[in-house]
Amino acid sequence: MHMNEALLMKLGWGLLVNSNSYWAHVLCSKYGFDPTIISTSLPTKYGSYLWKAIGRVWLKVLQRLRWNVRDGKRIRFWQDAWVADVGPLVNLAVAPIPEAILHDWVADAISFDGSWNWSRFGFLLPHNVVLMIAAIKPPTPISKADQFYWGSSNSRMFTARTAYNLILGNVVQDEEVRWKSIWKWRGPHRIQMFLWLAAKERIKCKAELYRRHIGVDMICMRCGYAVEDTAHALRDCVTSRRIWNMLLAGRENVSFFTLPTRDWIFTNIQGTGNHGNNREWSCIFRVAIWCIWVARNHMVRDIRVRVEEILRTFEAFQSDSGLRVQNMFGWLPPRLPYYKLNSDGAKKGSGLVGAGGLIRDATGRWHGGLCMNIGICSVTIAELWGLYQGLILAWQMGIILLVVEIDSLCVTQLLNKKSLNATLSLVNDILGLLSRDWQVSVHHVYREANFAADFMASHALTLPLGLHYFTTPPLGVKTWLRNDGLGTAFPRVFKP
Ligand SMILES: [Zn+2]
Repeated sequence: MHMNEALLMKLGWGLLVNSNSYWAHVLCSKYGFDPTIISTSLPTKYGSYLWKAIGRVWLKVLQRLRWNVRDGKRIRFWQDAWVADVGPLVNLAVAPIPEAILHDWVADAISFDGSWNWSRFGFLLPHNVVLMIAAIKPPTPISKADQFYWGSSNSRMFTARTAYNLILGNVVQDEEVRWKSIWKWRGPHRIQMFLWLAAKERIKCKAELYRRHIGVDMICMRCGYAVEDTAHALRDCVTSRRIWNMLLAGRENVSFFTLPTRDWIFTNIQGTGNHGNNREWSCIFRVAIWCIWVARNHMVRDIRVRVEEILRTFEAFQSDSGLRVQNMFGWLPPRLPYYKLNSDGAKKGSGLVGAGGLIRDATGRWHGGLCMNIGICSVTIAELWGLYQGLILAWQMGIILLVVEIDSLCVTQLLNKKSLNATLSLVNDILGLLSRDWQVSVHHVYREANFAADFMASHALTLPLGLHYFTTPPLGVKTWLRNDGLGTAFPRVFKP
């Protein structure tokens, strides 16, 4: 019965995303419904059983829509979910929203120069939300139409399963009960703590270390997968998966490997999954997840020790044969007619982010730089902002031969997987800039070769919100420029 509802939601979602398909067209024209205008209700006074049934789940479908801002003409400023993961802004207002702006589109919130019109809505929202909006690229009339996606699954695609979980969630789950279930179990405290961290997705896997600017990449040390996040470390990595498969033997396990991280943890520790009863499984799960993590740490440590051993042996061997170990990295000037842009993003503990970039020529001479105090968003978005503003600056300077260096693997990957993440407006705009009539190539470098840009990004956080250009280098960056100019290299320590 529940699943039925999930399938209806899938059909409803289909109306929105496949509005050109034959069946959507037939249904919509029959009932006079325009799916391109996302209306809060379906005209269901008349109509078939199916149509009415879709009408009943329609609001739940809409609750799950998340928006990417492009031209801002389809997104209702207060009612739709378009800012990070905070949901509709109407729920966050700190004062009554004046009737005159209650029905604003996002495009209405822009002032004549194209920036956010803070005086229109800023005083109605908490400061941290204002900073989150500051980090979003304001809509422009020339952009494509706003895009929506299904907000409760990682892939941004609808699956009946996410809808199914949503419905189950509506019936039984409230957040508090979920979190309490971690502490209710009478097991070792360190396992409770660990489960709590895992559910918060704050365990020190490579993706988390990277997020905190401690690691240099997110690659899984065990299987080489590009991103070792919580779910990968504890469930999806080859070695973890093997253990789960053995433990799950004989139990129903269809959803086990597909649930989003937090749902996966909670359904299993509460024993509400489909893995048979139960108490017993819940306990096995808690112990197993902890053991998998401990084993993972041992393995990673072993790998590191082994690598260090190999390097030491190699070093000894090299010095015997009179060679030097090449593990130094530093900034290199571009070849002669080229200019080089280095850009970067930085995040403070408080969540505030900045971006920066600078342009130099083959002699290492400074040609321009920028700092942007962004607001609140992820480091990846900050890196994208740095790259975007750097490219604009280079273009405005009339440069036609440009080499770009960034130290974020994640951004390099985003730019390569064009179709996959094209929904992110900034990525689109960067791809647009790259495809203009000039010669640009983007390269990934290690942080040691990007210190000057790193400085600019941190420097941004000391400046007022917004974009700042520098025709001459700001004071603190000069040390880095001098080092780079002298060809100083920095030893690189490979940490797991
Ligand atoms: Zn792995």
